[in-house]
Amino acid sequence: MSSLFLRTLREDPADAEVPSHKLLVRAGYVRRVAPGVYSWLPLGLKVLRRIENIVREEMDAIGGQEIQFPALLPREPYEATNRWTEYGPNIFRLKDRKGGDYLLGPTHEELFTLAVKGEYSSYKDYPVVLYQIQNKYRDEERPRAGILRGREFLMKDSYSFDLTDEGLAESYGKHRAAYIRMFERLGLKYVIVAATSGAMGGSASEEFLAESETGEDTFVRGPGGYAANVEAVTTPAPPAQPIEGKPAAAVHHTPDTPTIETLVDFLNAHYESAGGTSVGADRKFTAADTLKNVLLKTRQPGATDWELLAIGVPGDREVDMKRVEAGLEPAEVALLEEKDFAANPFLVKGYIGPKALQDNGVRYLVDPRVVTGTAWVTGADEVDHHVVDLVVGRDFTPDGTVEAAEVRAGDPSPDGQGVLEAARGIEIGHIFQLGRKYANAFSLDALGPDSKPVRITMGSYGVGVSRLVAAVAEQSHDESGLVWPRSVAPFDVHVVIAHKNNPELFEGGESLAAELEAAGLSVILDDRKASPGVKFADAELLGVPTIVVVGRGLAEGTLELKDRATGERTEIPREGAAEAIAAIVRS
Ligand code: ATP
Ligand code: MG
Repeated sequence: MSSLFLRTLREDPADAEVPSHKLLVRAGYVRRVAPGVYSWLPLGLKVLRRIENIVREEMDAIGGQEIQFPALLPREPYEATNRWTEYGPNIFRLKDRKGGDYLLGPTHEELFTLAVKGEYSSYKDYPVVLYQIQNKYRDEERPRAGILRGREFLMKDSYSFDLTDEGLAESYGKHRAAYIRMFERLGLKYVIVAATSGAMGGSASEEFLAESETGEDTFVRGPGGYAANVEAVTTPAPPAQPIEGKPAAAVHHTPDTPTIETLVDFLNAHYESAGGTSVGADRKFTAADTLKNVLLKTRQPGATDWELLAIGVPGDREVDMKRVEAGLEPAEVALLEEKDFAANPFLVKGYIGPKALQDNGVRYLVDPRVVTGTAWVTGADEVDHHVVDLVVGRDFTPDGTVEAAEVRAGDPSPDGQGVLEAARGIEIGHIFQLGRKYANAFSLDALGPDSKPVRITMGSYGVGVSRLVAAVAEQSHDESGLVWPRSVAPFDVHVVIAHKNNPELFEGGESLAAELEAAGLSVILDDRKASPGVKFADAELLGVPTIVVVGRGLAEGTLELKDRATGERTEIPREGAAEAIAAIVRS
């Protein structure tokens, strides 16, 4: 450590909110260069490389073949799949000196498809799995939490190419199993959840989420084994109801009811005078009887104009923008601004109802619970007025449904078994069955045994290698610092010479380190001329799993061993220490 390119910090960096970010910076693993752009210092690079190697070993074990594409890519392949446009502001675009368009690759489906098309032609060539471990570039809207969400980040991306749907399912299954092995080796606590397929297109898709309070993804799970990212939860729609016999819709003057809560109170207080409604005399109105219409605007990829979009959800639920975005991808979605309301005076804020929306040609999507025959209390498009008993299929017909309402703990599980619980996670891996989307874009065919072309079907599988460094740190740290699992720690053993300059202790530390290295362990030796307190604090901060203290006891032939994870301290004899420590590390 006296010569290691490392300076630890006592203070948390000002821009850091989550533990992994604070600790990785404080412990000198990474340094920020620009928002979402980080350098790896020696310790950080060691951890990154160890994780990368675990990922590589598991990919090789399922027959993956490693290749490497450039990160600097021409526009044309991404134009062929429309992703040059669909990615919108999320890709880094650049021009060469001749004015040619380039991008920094955000993901490489196009290039892999073209590579296979370039080399392979016969059905005998398939199946094949190719992968790379390479920096990706995405101009993330909110780079966050250090390396958790970078704008440059290391990803393992692999792609499977199969002749048949069954073949694709098998390739997918192999990746799934490989991911399970990788994440177990990394000592992570993770869940596999159903996912949406996002900008990739395609069908079957699952995410691996490292459980963590600080994760950006919310997932739900039910007692019957159902687990999904909330973006992928499909709301079980109740059965349609008969329209006949429902009371007629009636507009009521509902003064001072700008919020759902005030509206519900008003309705319940004035229920008798409001006349009979389908709520029935035996129960009260609740927020779930109201239909809240939220105004958004959307823009299709490549378009310049925004279009209005209204979303109707039961009034007891908020609109979850991430779910809306996932549902409307690849379109961009934004909340309406004051100027949009001003430009559309038929939108009476707080009292927007289906009538004004549909009279004015606003696209109107509703929550799946808003089925034919259900009656709602909603805005009457006039200040202080609401309409009661507005029946779907009789009084208004939405343009379709959208999964927009928040998913909550306690909601019924879509598999019909029990209710959902919610937790947060960090997306560390994602596996997709792409199907033939990319093969179609590039006409990737194999010549079959009958000499007829067979369209290839693909899968795409990503692991956030650099994000994993942070994900492991999120799950494995304490107040004093990082606590690495052995499989990824930058060193096996941290030897602390517990003195500023005592020559015997320095010699003792150096000879122990040499013996440990001879026993095959990697060692970091704190031979700095610093006080023991500083050295102990740094040992805790760096997070190497086994700490050996060479201190006063050495004169009596003992060393102190500290387990970083449990805090347990034991005295061991100096004699045979290297073998004993090696046994602990390997166990
Ligand atoms: P997210 O939802 O977190 O933005 P994504 O769904 O866009 O991720 P994929 O396209 O599925 O990501 O990429 C594969 C993997 O790459 C992800 O599972 C994640 O682990 C990692 N990854 C994606 N974006 C980033 C990023 N900005 N920084 C670090 N890792 C990332
Ligand atoms: Mg993903």
